[in-house]
Amino acid sequence: AITRIGLTGGIGSGKSTAAAILQQLGATLIDTDAIARELTLAGGAAIEPLRAAFGSACIGADGALDRAWMRAHAFADPTARRRLEAILHPLIGARANRLAALAGPQATLLFDVPLLVESTHWRGRVQRVLVIDCPPEVQLARVMRRPGWSREAALAVIGQQATRERRRAAADAVVDNRRDDPAALEQGLTALWRQWHSAFA
Ligand code: ATP
Repeated sequence: AITRIGLTGGIGSGKSTAAAILQQLGATLIDTDAIARELTLAGGAAIEPLRAAFGSACIGADGALDRAWMRAHAFADPTARRRLEAILHPLIGARANRLAALAGPQATLLFDVPLLVESTHWRGRVQRVLVIDCPPEVQLARVMRRPGWSREAALAVIGQQATRERRRAAADAVVDNRRDDPAALEQGLTALWRQWHSAFA
């Protein structure tokens, strides 16, 4: 059976929604976004390395990473982005490994990795890549419903991520989530879960 699944998809594709459904089906979720947030809270393991690399300006008054500062500086600058990733990725990987070990040998691990297709780190660590798929216009509509997101900001992130085609090409399974219908998503995921847990998977 399949015990290590990588879950990915573009911004607003429905990864978190899919992760919640797969947890209900029995998966143990390892949420790399949540790990990254934890690492960059005040006192988190990434804070001092980030301060050393980017200066104290990247740390807010509360001692946590100033995400807006980092977005403004690292988003468009590939060198800064690589530096940020070189700090965060090994820490995220180590924490994910610890959580995986804690889950025990019987667990089906679901690694939610927004940039799985873009990174080289994760592909070799999972047995199957599951892509939650929807067209960019649906992503755009979903992201713009979130407070604080403009059309421009949403388009910028979508443009920065892998294309829909590239993501689908990297997938072992693609689950369609273009419709705002949780039941349809659940149906697709349940079929896949059964397939991956059958004796012949
Ligand atoms: P991000 O990359 O920003 O973390 P995500 O891929 O995790 O996003 P979600 O947060 O799961 O995406 O979904 C984006 C929004 O679309 C949410 O408000 C969610 O409730 C809604 N949504 C996603 N899929 C469905 C669905 N099948 N039915 C109804 N609403 C959905």
